[in-house]
Amino acid sequence: MPELPEVQTVVNGIKDILIGKKIIKFKKFTTKLRYPIDTKINQKIKDSHVLNIKRVAKYIIINLSNNNTLIIHLGMSGRIILNKNNEKKESKHNHFIICFTENCFLKYFDPRKFGLIQIVKTEEFLDLKFVKNLGIEPLTKNFNSTALKLICNKKKSNIKSIIMNQKYLVGVGNIYASEALFISKIDPLKEGCRLTSLQLNLLVKAIKFVLKKSIKLGGSSINDYALVSGNLGNYQNNVKVYGRDGLKCLNKSCNSLIIRIVISNRSTFMCPKCQK
Ligand SMILES: [Zn+2]
Repeated sequence: MPELPEVQTVVNGIKDILIGKKIIKFKKFTTKLRYPIDTKINQKIKDSHVLNIKRVAKYIIINLSNNNTLIIHLGMSGRIILNKNNEKKESKHNHFIICFTENCFLKYFDPRKFGLIQIVKTEEFLDLKFVKNLGIEPLTKNFNSTALKLICNKKKSNIKSIIMNQKYLVGVGNIYASEALFISKIDPLKEGCRLTSLQLNLLVKAIKFVLKKSIKLGGSSINDYALVSGNLGNYQNNVKVYGRDGLKCLNKSCNSLIIRIVISNRSTFMCPKCQK
């Protein structure tokens, strides 16, 4: 599932190319992704210019010059590819194409059709229910050990589920949660309220570190994710625990093997010796 770094990588990959371009038309090949696609979407975005593109949580936000805003979410398996001079539908999983001036085409692919595209009035964006309910952005200054302490305060649920809960913190998915907990040497099953100040501090740093590193490497190409160019991201080659069960812990002087446990139905990888 595309997480914060993968979505940020998409935004970074399309931003400079699309800002300033005019939308010529919206071609759709399905009526519905997770939700039905607005039947008037073409009229609503046609002839407008792209003013800005940014990421909010795991949403790609495209502000248009006609006071409309496009919201795209990649769901479980969504991908965006930018093509020059090729307007054709690429496969049965290519569900829509946004055609821009200068022969530029944004193509959306999604085998599981769990993504979404929505159009809203720009001024109504912040009032949308899903935007209001979002937790802290982990890469902002607002996410620090004080904020994490407040989040974990009195919580008996395990720390991995807490940091993956979008109500508290946005965009930290399964891979990044496992990695950050390994780097900060915290047992994923530890109750949130039992983390020490030092652990809170280390965990904040580790979360920021893994997300930034992944963005730098173009995201993780686990489960079909790819860059807008079609190339693959590289973070999966840099993981320390994810998918490494049965292999040796990478911490020096630790001879333990990485194990896989299941937390909230998700695979979790950890070193039973290093993580406390
Ligand atoms: Zn270890």
